[in-house]
Amino acid sequence: MLESHPAEVAAPLLNALQAELAERATLGLLRQRRVLHGMQGVHVEVDGKRLLSFCSNDYLGLAAHPALISAMQQSAAVAGAGTGASHLVTGHQDAHEALEHTLQAFMRMPGILLFTTGYMANLGIITALCEREDAIFADKLNHASLNDAALLSRAELKRYAHNDLASLERMLAHSTARRKLVVADAVFSMDGDLAPVPELLRLCERYDAYLMLDDAHGFGVLGKTGRGVLEHFAIDSPRIIYMATLGKAAGAAGAFVAGPKTVTDYLMQTARPYIYTTASPAPVAAAAMAGVQLIQQDDARRAHLHAMIHEFRQSCQLRRWQLMTSDTAIQPIIIGSNDDALHISKCLLKSGILVPAIRPPTVPKGTARLRVSLSAAHCSADIQQLMAVLHRLEAV
Ligand code: PMP
Repeated sequence: MLESHPAEVAAPLLNALQAELAERATLGLLRQRRVLHGMQGVHVEVDGKRLLSFCSNDYLGLAAHPALISAMQQSAAVAGAGTGASHLVTGHQDAHEALEHTLQAFMRMPGILLFTTGYMANLGIITALCEREDAIFADKLNHASLNDAALLSRAELKRYAHNDLASLERMLAHSTARRKLVVADAVFSMDGDLAPVPELLRLCERYDAYLMLDDAHGFGVLGKTGRGVLEHFAIDSPRIIYMATLGKAAGAAGAFVAGPKTVTDYLMQTARPYIYTTASPAPVAAAAMAGVQLIQQDDARRAHLHAMIHEFRQSCQLRRWQLMTSDTAIQPIIIGSNDDALHISKCLLKSGILVPAIRPPTVPKGTARLRVSLSAAHCSADIQQLMAVLHRLEAV
């Protein structure tokens, strides 16, 4: 017997999806992507137009650095383009091993394990360490991947108000879970502020909990030598499970977990996003290694980024744009209404400047913002160009 035509079978689903897309479009919430011609950087080419970008997480300007490009080319010549297997089968090549050793020495932590992406690292760590009888205490502004991981683990998920230590302490004090894991972004990705890591650690010690930190936006940027949030606060503890990505300040892609060796040994055996995925290409690991070496050796880059952050904040404060308490490369300007944020972002684009408008549900209602992210590749003139256009808009 003939089956119904596939398009007819799928019609209710397709209609529902189409209706949802149309509603998003009406609300102005449809996400758009752009095609970038050429390399990531402070100046990018989109639709044949050269734009000044404040949009990337390439905080040290390493994504197009000659050392990373050449490391990638050399690695491809000897290790090939693809790994063809997961790490535990035959996908773990010299470049991955060398990168883990470099990170181990740099982070001064006994256990290091590479993951293909930060999203997968977060899923892997949390689902491996927590099960039904455990509890996860998560900051309400944590990255989506941490929330997804907590739900997937089936542990009890308790979310505390952003950086609210009293609320976290109440939750910890009442918990009877087998294992308690406090999870926080070290640098919050939409606000740019830091988690109160020493205080979080103290609470973990008091209530026999563990602390998982996602330092995607701090690694390479924070700390005198770029070792991230742990160096910034000068802390070290076997209770800390640290995760950082290699696709932001390190200029390449991938992520790593650092912590006690028992933890990384256990993750290698049990973290499903580690076990059941193809290892990322060796040239990517080689580029990340060149990025990590530059983070370690080139302090001037980080110093310049911090000078740019300072200059940007001063310029905004002079003009009374509302900033958040952030000393990191993520510098949101709070606008408030969704339409105003979108309007300013569009006006900036017309003037050749890319700054994304971030709206609910990504950020709380009434706090739509321009998310300016700064890079060591920006110079004073770039910041002044952005400020000049903002100033003109303010005057309208
Ligand atoms: N954690 C945070 C805080 C992030 O901002 C991101 C990426 N935006 C990730 C994790 C995921 O990292 P990756 O892009 O390597 O998957």
